[in-house]
Amino acid sequence: DLVKDEDLNVLGDLGAGNGGTVTKVWNKKRNCIMARKESLPRELKIFRKQIIRELQIMNDCSSPYIVEYYGCFPVDVHVGIVMEYMDAGSLDHIYRRNGAIPIQMVGKVAEAVLKGLMYLYDVHRIIHRDIKPSNILANTAGDIKICDFGVSGELINSIANTFVGTSTYMSPERIQGAPYTIKSDVWSLGISLVELALGRFPFSDSPDDEDESELELDPDATLPLNSARPKLKPKNSGEGKSAGVSLAGGGHSMSILDLLQHIVNEPAPRLEKKGRTYPPEAAAFVEGCLHKDPATRKSPQELLVSFPQVDLAAADALKASDWITKSSVTKDDLKAWTKSVTQAE
Ligand code: ATP
Ligand code: MG
Repeated sequence: DLVKDEDLNVLGDLGAGNGGTVTKVWNKKRNCIMARKESLPRELKIFRKQIIRELQIMNDCSSPYIVEYYGCFPVDVHVGIVMEYMDAGSLDHIYRRNGAIPIQMVGKVAEAVLKGLMYLYDVHRIIHRDIKPSNILANTAGDIKICDFGVSGELINSIANTFVGTSTYMSPERIQGAPYTIKSDVWSLGISLVELALGRFPFSDSPDDEDESELELDPDATLPLNSARPKLKPKNSGEGKSAGVSLAGGGHSMSILDLLQHIVNEPAPRLEKKGRTYPPEAAAFVEGCLHKDPATRKSPQELLVSFPQVDLAAADALKASDWITKSSVTKDDLKAWTKSVTQAE
């Protein structure tokens, strides 16, 4: 039975994005906490069919790697979507509050996202299209799940805010107009993993400069139709977001157009940070996600499963999947970690 708005009492804010706001709510009928996302102006009747189709898919989803969906209804001028509350929040909030995420935990994030993507693709024939740290959620039961596929990726970005769906997690081929494939999601995953491991968005105008005054492009920036200028924010400026466009002062700047060009023309980011070392299998995994050519970029299967080595000469070479298949992180480790980052709040 689907959740109705009258069952819900608002408890507080969980966050806001370009497409709307998310609130923590108490479900009186079921005696549990849920999350309610308000998005999509409901007067967009022409898209009704598509919205209904996508909500139906969400309703049909059942996977330990996909945030559960409980129902939807009109709220003011919006559509409210009620979903499972993830009490450790999104991974962007976690790293902004606690700093870079331990690399073994980033490995578990990689595994969960890939399994979620494979579920969506294999069972429902859909591509997520909006993989980024704010759409990867964790809870203190030790689960990592993805949310905001389809509905937000397609409709909110393209219509609701008259924002072009240009995300800085977008793959080089997408920037150049090629159609979406599941490998575009693999690229976005690679960028997200580097961001979580480094504790900062991997693209900036001076990547080797760890100077605090450095300005970075807001990874959540989208390109407004009527503006040539991107949204920039100072590093570590917190999570305040505005739908409008603001341009930070100071010496450094990188416009979103420069960034998109950079993604297309420059070598992909790598798992590298001054004074830090990462396990070679983690670096190999990320490298497998970030091939600029989608033809050689690894598929989710290749990243998850150790295939028998066909090429004997490469028998000793690291496989991209080693990071996942050789991980010794248990569910209890995940629980302990998500609890520690939640208590830090
Ligand atoms: P964008 O609009 O660019 O996609 P976003 O993903 O941050 O950005 P929303 O999807 O509106 O925007 O989510 C806002 C915030 O609410 C998220 O960053 C996340 O921290 C929080 N949030 C979303 N869904 C849940 C949930 N089910 N449980 C707990 N927190 C959530
Ligand atoms: Mg989101």
